[in-house]
Amino acid sequence: MDNPGASSGGRKSFHVPGSSKHYPPVMEYHTEHIKLQLKIDPEAQTIQGSCSLKIGISGATHPRVFHFDASGMQVEKVEVDGKNSLFDYDGEVLTVKPDAAFQPSASPEVTVWYSAKPKSGVFFVHPEKEYPSKPVQAWTQFEAEGARHCFPCRDFPDYKSTSEMILTVPDGLQMLSNGRLVSQESRDGWTTYHWRENVPHSVYLNSFAVGKFLEISDTAEGVPLQYLFPAEKKEDAMRYFGLTPDMVKTFDEIIGVKYPFEKYSQVAVHDFIYGGMENIGATTLTDTRFPDARSEEDYAARYTRPDRTHIELVSHELAHMWFGDLVTTRDWANAWLNEGFATYFEALYHERRFGMDDLREDLRAKASGYFEEDEGRYRRPIVENDYIYADDLFDTFLYEKAAWMLHQLRYIVGDEVFFRGVNQYVTRFRYKNVDTHDFMRVMEEVSDRSLQEYFTQSFYQTGHPEFEVEYSWEEGIHAAHISLKQAQSTGDGTTTPVFSLPCDLVFYTAGRGRVKKRVWVTKAEESHHFELDSEPTIVEFDPEEWLLKKVRFKKSHSLLKNQLASSEDASSRRRAAEDLASFKTAETIALLKQAASKEQHWTVRSEALRSIGKIGGSEALEVLLEMVNVRHRRVRRAAVAALGEFKGEERVQQALKKVLFNDESPYVQCEAALSLGKIGAGDAIQTLTQAMKLPSPEHEVTEASLEALGYLRNKDARELIRANLPYGLPTRVRVGSLKGYIRLGSLEDEDVRLLKEIALKDKDFVVRDQLLETVAEIGDKRFIETLKRVAEQDTDNRNRRRAVELLVDLSHGADVGGTVSSLRQDVENLRSQNQELVERVSRMELT
Ligand SMILES: [Zn+2]
Repeated sequence: MDNPGASSGGRKSFHVPGSSKHYPPVMEYHTEHIKLQLKIDPEAQTIQGSCSLKIGISGATHPRVFHFDASGMQVEKVEVDGKNSLFDYDGEVLTVKPDAAFQPSASPEVTVWYSAKPKSGVFFVHPEKEYPSKPVQAWTQFEAEGARHCFPCRDFPDYKSTSEMILTVPDGLQMLSNGRLVSQESRDGWTTYHWRENVPHSVYLNSFAVGKFLEISDTAEGVPLQYLFPAEKKEDAMRYFGLTPDMVKTFDEIIGVKYPFEKYSQVAVHDFIYGGMENIGATTLTDTRFPDARSEEDYAARYTRPDRTHIELVSHELAHMWFGDLVTTRDWANAWLNEGFATYFEALYHERRFGMDDLREDLRAKASGYFEEDEGRYRRPIVENDYIYADDLFDTFLYEKAAWMLHQLRYIVGDEVFFRGVNQYVTRFRYKNVDTHDFMRVMEEVSDRSLQEYFTQSFYQTGHPEFEVEYSWEEGIHAAHISLKQAQSTGDGTTTPVFSLPCDLVFYTAGRGRVKKRVWVTKAEESHHFELDSEPTIVEFDPEEWLLKKVRFKKSHSLLKNQLASSEDASSRRRAAEDLASFKTAETIALLKQAASKEQHWTVRSEALRSIGKIGGSEALEVLLEMVNVRHRRVRRAAVAALGEFKGEERVQQALKKVLFNDESPYVQCEAALSLGKIGAGDAIQTLTQAMKLPSPEHEVTEASLEALGYLRNKDARELIRANLPYGLPTRVRVGSLKGYIRLGSLEDEDVRLLKEIALKDKDFVVRDQLLETVAEIGDKRFIETLKRVAEQDTDNRNRRRAVELLVDLSHGADVGGTVSSLRQDVENLRSQNQELVERVSRMELT
């Protein structure tokens, strides 16, 4: 077992105080049908009504009591098969106890009448004093364990049931849910919508969204499509949703199983706390990712995450309809079977629509997110059942790393077998729940080979190979000598192994062109000889980027030069551009300039410019100043970013200012603001203050300008940053302020006071989330007491978990265990108080 909080070999542990092992609950019964009849009052932020659960008996004996998860409800009455029943309720678990004399039917129906003002699961949006133009909305987010805040249920993914949502909402508001709309009727100022989903599904996939939306209907492969969005996004709606029909068609083809549900709706809601959620047949999406006319071409979800786009988001949620909704993880420990597949299908969509280079670039961006978390946060196996909250698992291991493990598997077994296996897996397990072994068995069957070792190292062990590669040419025997070392640390308390994987070595020779040799690497150190017709001009290790790995491969200038100019793989040319940065010569700059100017994949061009920036000097500067005018936006962006390396150059400042105020791309503008901040030239404060007023989607340029101000590290910048923090300003502006503090690198007492208030009271999850990031980056011990309270009281488990991690970091483990156990005690006390109350009420009901 890991020592909580202690790092192993310099790495932090995923296991923090409060985490424990979780297994699927053993139950003698399951739910076959859920029928919700609720009145949703957005004004009062309450729900009230009943939930009927049709019970299926799994075991031979008829259970005498039924337990349901139910958080923070006022339970008024419980009936079993229409007869009043006794019950206990402790604020978290509802125990239904039919009278001993009463004989429930073979599949009894339990109906619970209740009301609630949900703290989670159901979210209400409405105009506020600080945000008068917010819309009136109510929407749900049940994954991972939010459904229990909305209705009593078995809140675990391992069983599937059909469902009905009969919701009454104020007239004028629409209501979207899962399946088909059965009826809609208005009376006395309220409208009742009745939706029914006939395909059995896990409880966390139920949903509703209430609000005023515009609607566009479409179809794809016979599936009705529906896009719902706020009126002000009318112009941009098809920029967001427009590829959906193509995606449905593409995924139908790849998987070989038709889209499985009655319809596919996507609704964009306000203040959503994720990018999207794959509710069954009815995805909920954030309304902050609509590209507009200016940003469509180089759209980025955030300027800090240039490689994440709305295309990834929309394709991810759609892929979940097969992976997650039709075939569903049995427990949260195996949730990669939902998320890893959906994430890999983002990349597959890129491959089908834009080509292999784009798949590789998409996967490279995913890998960098994973490496960052693995190095900076913790290392864990993909399949993991030891956590505090199920939400803890929704990290880059579950998404990005798991997607990569699928990509590697495709490489090992080959395209034909891999996609046949995916088809078999979906076909065999549709409407069912699965774990990792179910998928492995299918892949073993179709590939006719054991995959135990691969699955063990990929999903149950940790880390990735860190290769050190050396090459030499032995003229006497006409052979290339390659030595391979796996340099990752394996005995450091994690379960990182020496990996067993195939990999490609590619040689370009005069006589035979591109020669690919595959070896199977199994040892910590090994070497290979390849006889070739002549000394190769290019030598590449996994140039097609099939492996999730780190690699150090020192090559000569001439090998890199040839690779940059002539490798067939854009991924390999990009790598050459990156590696050439260590040769700081005029010749290298000329080569890189040539690569940047050539019409080729933008990743190669951008990398060449980044390397020119790293090399520095006056020649580099000339090239970059020229390249700020290049037509391709992403390439231009790289030039502008690279200029941030040139301090004290008047010409750079002028060029950046021009870009900042005139570029057609908001993301190039963001980059110009950041570079101006980094070089910190004379009137940067005035320039950035002006730039904050520039219009841009989601206030991105304002956000970047505030972050850039932080680089200046002076009093005026701090005041501007502070002034843009208050509740009432746009979310992304406030996030920009919090990023500005990271760049400032220190906090004055007044800042600490303001930040603590946000941590404990702010209603905006995105801002609280960024606040924790800021505290983590600055590492300020003055937040220890505040973090303890966040760990106890934040309404979002992700923030609670993060606060515990930060406490471990800041206090080196001391006292954190105490916080968590006292937190549990509080919950226990609350439960027993609640139970007393509930028991009193239920006695009254029954007499
Ligand atoms: Zn997902």
